[in-house]
Amino acid sequence: MKNRIKISTILFTCTVALMPLCATGSYTITETERSVSINPLDILNGREKHHSRKVSGRKLIKQNGKQHLRTNIYRRKTLYLTFDDGPGKGTANVLRILKEENVEGTMFFIGRKVERHRALYGQALSMPNLLIANHTYSHANGKYEKFYSHAATVIKDVDRAQRIIGGAKYLRLAGRNVWRLPQTQRNDYSLSKARRVIESPKYTALAGRGYHIYGWDIEWQFDHSTGKPSYSADHMISRINALYRSQHLVIQGKMVLLAHDAMFRTQSGLQQLRELIQILKADAWQFETIDHFTRSTPAVFVRNKASAASPKVIHLAMSKKSPLAQRSRQRKDILKILRQD
Ligand SMILES: [Zn+2]
Repeated sequence: MKNRIKISTILFTCTVALMPLCATGSYTITETERSVSINPLDILNGREKHHSRKVSGRKLIKQNGKQHLRTNIYRRKTLYLTFDDGPGKGTANVLRILKEENVEGTMFFIGRKVERHRALYGQALSMPNLLIANHTYSHANGKYEKFYSHAATVIKDVDRAQRIIGGAKYLRLAGRNVWRLPQTQRNDYSLSKARRVIESPKYTALAGRGYHIYGWDIEWQFDHSTGKPSYSADHMISRINALYRSQHLVIQGKMVLLAHDAMFRTQSGLQQLRELIQILKADAWQFETIDHFTRSTPAVFVRNKASAASPKVIHLAMSKKSPLAQRSRQRKDILKILRQD
C-alpha cells in the first residue's frame, strides 16, 4: 500500500511537471541509453501506449544541440495476420476467431473464388477488423512460370480481381513472395536468378499501375491433403520470436505472417489459430491490417466503362481517404450490390 502511494505520488509529480509542455506537443524524455517521444497529454489520459505507434524504428534526432537515439520504449511488436486463397473452406472459421479474439487481420482473396462464394465474401466485408485484398483472379491456375512470363497476362488477371474486390490496390502475388512498396522492393529469393530476371519487370509493371505488393516474413505451412497446420501454435510462437530477435524482417518490429484459410477448416486447426493469437496477445504483440504496414497508400481502382456495363462486376471509384474510410465505403457499396443480386 505504502509503495502504491509512493508510485502514484511520483507519477502525479511527473505529470504535473510535464503539463506546461503540452502546448508544444511531443517532448523527449532522456533515459540512460535512449530517448523517446511522449506526448504528456497521453500520459494524463493513459494513452501513451497508442502514441508509441507513431514512433517506429530507431533514428537519431537532434534536439537542444544534442543527438538522441529515438526508439520505441515499449518495443512495440506488430503482427500482420494474413490469410490467402479464400474465400472458401476455412474462411468462416478464421472470421469467427478474428471476431472472438477481437484482432485485426487481412484476407488476400482470389477473384474467381469471390465470384463463387458471394455470401462468404459478404460476411467478410461486414467485419470491421478485416481488410480484404487482391490475390489475383486466377491464382495463375497453379502454373506460375508460364503466368509470370507474360506481362499482359499478369496485369489483366490482377486488374480483373481488383474490379471484383474493389478498394485500394493492396496485392499479394500468387505463389510469389515479392514486395513492391515505395520503400521496399524485394524479389522472391526462392527463385533462380534467371527466373527472377524474367519475372521482375512484371512485378515492377504492376507497381507502376499503383499496386502495393506484399510478400511475407514467415509462413505457417499446412498439409494440403489433410488441411491441417504442419506446425503447432507453440512451434510457430518459437519461430516468430526467434525471427523477431534476429531482426531479419522487411520492417523491424513488424512481422507479416502468411497462413491460408483452408488450414483452419477443421476444429483442431481453428483451435490452433485461437491459441496462436492468445499466446501472442499475452506476449504484448499487437495486430494490424496490412494497410498500416507503411504510411503510404496505394492507388484506388477507378471505374471504367467496361466494368460499369456488367452488373456482376463490383468496382469502386473512391477518393483518397484514410484506409479505414475506404474500407467502410468499400463495405457499404459492395453490400448494397450483394443485396441487389
Ligand atoms: Zn495463394
